[in-house]
Amino acid sequence: MSDFQKTKSMFHLPKGIIYLDGNSLGPLPKATPEKVGSMLTQEWGDMLITGWNKADWMGQPSRVGDRIGKLIGAPAGSVVMGDTLSIKVYQAVASALELNPTRKVVLSDNGNFPTDLYMVEGLLKSLDKGQELRLANPEDVEAALSEEIAVLMLTEVDYRTGRKHDMKALTQKAHALGILVIWDLAHSAGAVEVDLTACDADFAIGCTYKYLNGGPGAPAFIYVAPKHQENVRPALSGWLGHEAPFAFDIDYRPGTGIERMRVGTPPVIALTALESSLDIWDMVTTADVRAKSIELCDLFIAEVEKRCPSLELSSPRDGANRGSQISFKFEHAYAGMQALIDNGVVGDFRAPNSMRFGFTPLYIDEEDVIGAAAILERVINDNLWDNPKYQTRSRVT
Ligand SMILES: *Cc1c(COP(=O)(O)O)cnc(C)c1O
Repeated sequence: MSDFQKTKSMFHLPKGIIYLDGNSLGPLPKATPEKVGSMLTQEWGDMLITGWNKADWMGQPSRVGDRIGKLIGAPAGSVVMGDTLSIKVYQAVASALELNPTRKVVLSDNGNFPTDLYMVEGLLKSLDKGQELRLANPEDVEAALSEEIAVLMLTEVDYRTGRKHDMKALTQKAHALGILVIWDLAHSAGAVEVDLTACDADFAIGCTYKYLNGGPGAPAFIYVAPKHQENVRPALSGWLGHEAPFAFDIDYRPGTGIERMRVGTPPVIALTALESSLDIWDMVTTADVRAKSIELCDLFIAEVEKRCPSLELSSPRDGANRGSQISFKFEHAYAGMQALIDNGVVGDFRAPNSMRFGFTPLYIDEEDVIGAAAILERVINDNLWDNPKYQTRSRVT
């Protein structure tokens, strides 16, 4: 049984704040500053360039990838770290399209996170082969599958509402029609149970600064199903994805297995911070995290609906159909969230009218949920949001 009291004690959680935004940026594990600090002085400082071998910085993207793999049902040697999620979207879609060369359509849904769609648009423009990005409503994706489609690219959990696609069923249906499937796990990894092997996903990608607490700008991951690894041509054919980077050959030859999805020099400092957070993940099971997350979300819905009848739930009511976040619609959502933050509850605002709250069992408990609902009640029912200082928008909302 996972001990969430213990895990909570392992995070730096500023006093007076209930942090319900770990779905955007996870908090700092207490062990991270020291772990990163000793990497800086003992490895970078003392080893200098020899750290690539002595501290095996070169093996870190795969080593950390294997640890992420355990959280998403991926076997060793099928996940590698690097770059940002936007880049991984590009890599996955480019490779998948080449594996299905006679078809011209990439299908996604219009609830997807914009960067995923932008990256595909940009890629298709560069390819200039008459390929198109087609969008369906999230609930119509299954009906939109056809033999015209080369690649289905979906984010499992909707970033606005938390609505969750049925990964296994959609993958199965897509495969039956000869479609390759890419899953974006940005709001899944560390939030819900994922079993890429059981779902038979072709590719998966995700970031590590949200539920996985790797820190701002922590590197992304990419999974390629073992059956595809030797056939995948990396579109971003960087030297560290080469079969023999230090042969410095003029010609590119893809590396073995998942290594070919590497591009350039890995972000060693950021990967070290992520490793420290993964030590906490080693203490829990994703099944326990998921069960607890559903409990916390259900409790929040019940408390908020009891206290704030003017807010409208925009997340699925049934825990099985959503990720680890809850959104409520409110006409003055931006000001409401600013007032809430000012009163010690940090969630976030998503345009046009959502107040979004992430529930992360590693460091959020029932007391936090009830405390947050009580503050939300004051902000809404006493109109605390109705103050000019809560109207000004910052660069990052
Ligand atoms: C958070 C998120 C991203 C962010 O991409 P970056 O390149 O890491 O900035 C992309 N896609 C989805 C679905 C996300 O939720």
